[in-house]
Amino acid sequence: MSTPLIRRRLRVSGIVQGVGFRPFVYGLATNMNLVGFVGNDTDGVFIEVESETGTLDRFVDELETSAPPAARIQRIESVDVQTTGDTSFRIVASHHAETGTALVSPDLRTCDDCLDELHDTNDRRYGYPFINCTNCGPRFTITLKTPYDRPNTTMRSFEMCAACLAEYRDPVSRRFHAQPNACPECGPNVRTIPPSERPVVDTRRRIAAGEIVAIKGLGGFHLACDATSDAAVALLRERKGRIEKPFAVMVSDLETVRSITTIDADETRLLASRERPIVLLAKRMDSTVSELVAPGNGYLGVMLPYTPLHDLLIEPGDVWVMTSGNLSEEPIVTENDDAVERLGALTGSYLVHDRDIHVPCDDSVIRILDGSEYPIRRSRGYTPFPVPLPFESPPILATGGELKATFCLASGRDGFMSQHIGDMENLETLDAFTNAVDHFVELFRIEPELIAADLHPGYLSTKWAGRQNVPLVKVQHHHAHIASVMAEHGVLGPVIGFSFDGTGYGTDGTIWGGEILVAGYERFERVGHLKATPLPGGDAAVKHPARMALSHLLASDVPWTEDLPPVMALTAADRALLKTQLERGINTIPTTSMGRLFDAVAALAGVRQTVTYEAQAAIEFEALIDSTAGGTYAFAITEHDGSLVIDPTPVLRSIVGDVAAGESIGVIAARFHRSVGAVIVEAAERVRRRTGLTTVGLSGGVFQNVTLTHATRAALIERDFEVLLHRLVPPNDGGLALGQAVIAAARR
Ligand SMILES: [Zn+2]
Ligand SMILES: [Zn+2]
Repeated sequence: MSTPLIRRRLRVSGIVQGVGFRPFVYGLATNMNLVGFVGNDTDGVFIEVESETGTLDRFVDELETSAPPAARIQRIESVDVQTTGDTSFRIVASHHAETGTALVSPDLRTCDDCLDELHDTNDRRYGYPFINCTNCGPRFTITLKTPYDRPNTTMRSFEMCAACLAEYRDPVSRRFHAQPNACPECGPNVRTIPPSERPVVDTRRRIAAGEIVAIKGLGGFHLACDATSDAAVALLRERKGRIEKPFAVMVSDLETVRSITTIDADETRLLASRERPIVLLAKRMDSTVSELVAPGNGYLGVMLPYTPLHDLLIEPGDVWVMTSGNLSEEPIVTENDDAVERLGALTGSYLVHDRDIHVPCDDSVIRILDGSEYPIRRSRGYTPFPVPLPFESPPILATGGELKATFCLASGRDGFMSQHIGDMENLETLDAFTNAVDHFVELFRIEPELIAADLHPGYLSTKWAGRQNVPLVKVQHHHAHIASVMAEHGVLGPVIGFSFDGTGYGTDGTIWGGEILVAGYERFERVGHLKATPLPGGDAAVKHPARMALSHLLASDVPWTEDLPPVMALTAADRALLKTQLERGINTIPTTSMGRLFDAVAALAGVRQTVTYEAQAAIEFEALIDSTAGGTYAFAITEHDGSLVIDPTPVLRSIVGDVAAGESIGVIAARFHRSVGAVIVEAAERVRRRTGLTTVGLSGGVFQNVTLTHATRAALIERDFEVLLHRLVPPNDGGLALGQAVIAAARR
């Protein structure tokens, strides 16, 4: 008597396409002598297997526990169906349905097996810059649409040679159904403009000679130069119009990374991870890297090679600047012709290839804070893997903010955060934004029923949202920040939220940025804020922290004495004009921005009086902290109409005293950071007494300051608060869209 056969239909969702999942299923099923089939469709992978019950149970267990390294299973659903008496197990053609949300894998760094072959003189892909397999290579950036099959990628224009096709069809090959599979005979290749015999060697020679070369990579062009050459970096800065904003570097290997930065075990793991982000690492003083790469900054953005082309280009000991190939503020360049046109003013040398980049995708920037990942920019390697939502969402598009723009396409429990789009201040970036939205809508087959946008009437993303024929939900900026950090942690709230950043439009039409909220998803209450101070001349005050410093001094009744750095920085005539402007409220708007207070204090301490990029004064101020310094300052907290007002007057007076006493910037920086941490804890205590809430969320660009965030978190935990920090999306406006999406979903 034989055990009865049963047949089970399984549906596996998650990242299960383009990661060797079907070959894995095929191998598993044939090993266990199962019959049936496996295939891809727009929802993921479908499987039918026929055998005895016990064997099928073991099969399902193995599916979850032994999946290939790049796979990420979200769910396995199972239903028993009629047996068919199949006699073999096979891989069947893809089904193309009209609906479904099969996940697309992020791009993956070159795997070790492929690297071994790349450097093996006997391998047929020796030195081939596009070697890949099911465990590695391009994914998101080459995907035109789902399901992820070669004809739906930019590899469709290359026909596989006999050898590649044999691997592609061989179930035991690492390249079985590897969609971008290619070799020197049949696949893409590199060339230089102007032409050269040996493109990689020629590019290395140019970089070594101090030239700038535009190099086409995975998600767009990089501009590369020798990071140890002051002259080369200065030339790049001059041509790119990027005066001081830090550049990232690509470094050949970990040993070289250790020679230029201090790096701990968590940072090493992140740097070498399959996502291969840029990791912010503390600089070493004895580094060979030019100070011009990240001037005034305590940290250096470092990444390891992540494509075979990078691996061939960069040799042991090399440190190259690898910055996004664009003019300042414009989107990253992805096309060869476009590169020559748009980057022509920056360089005459290009290393290009003929595998099209369908989706532009900048490098991600992540740092380690208290042992875990703390994202600054979530893009290549992470996008488009969804952020899990705390509850079911209808189809919603959240359009994000203005700077560091990203959007979020949400549906069900998935929040698909876009790649980094850039600063939405020009039409090129708006075009990049709309292209990316269209692509996400098609890729994930989510047609938004609702659009969420920032309250700010001037944001391009908000204006764009208003032009779509879809119901619009407007979301307050700082509420979105707190909702974003709540959503990441699956917290339903309400929480005490500290939403500290540079600029966000308040519900009263003023500029907020030092907000204490009691926030849930549907609504929030503004229970406190930094004292409002006039922001003189909007942009001018942002670019010239000296002006903000003088505004804060005036508001605190501190005289503008000539010994103060921001006073010295302005001419007597400018000061007179500014005073009139502030006193009469001409072209000023009240702001509660904590970012602007950091600017003002940095200016007051003498860090700098003008900035060339956002948050520069605060970043340099943090870098100058003297960690051996004692002492602190004290904010005053007053209650006004039931709302806490954090008054910086005593802090400003103490700083003026310290400046007069000749204290160093490092001492003032240490004391100021400490005082901000202390006032957060004090305010949290007061809100807890009133509300009983014990969870605190920290969000907003100010919390990119890890000295502040680390100390504040520790002090809050000490007082028995539970603290939510960003771990999946950035605390800056790059994470805003997630919060907008969940707020819109909750209000629905
Ligand atoms: Zn590989
Ligand atoms: Zn081939």
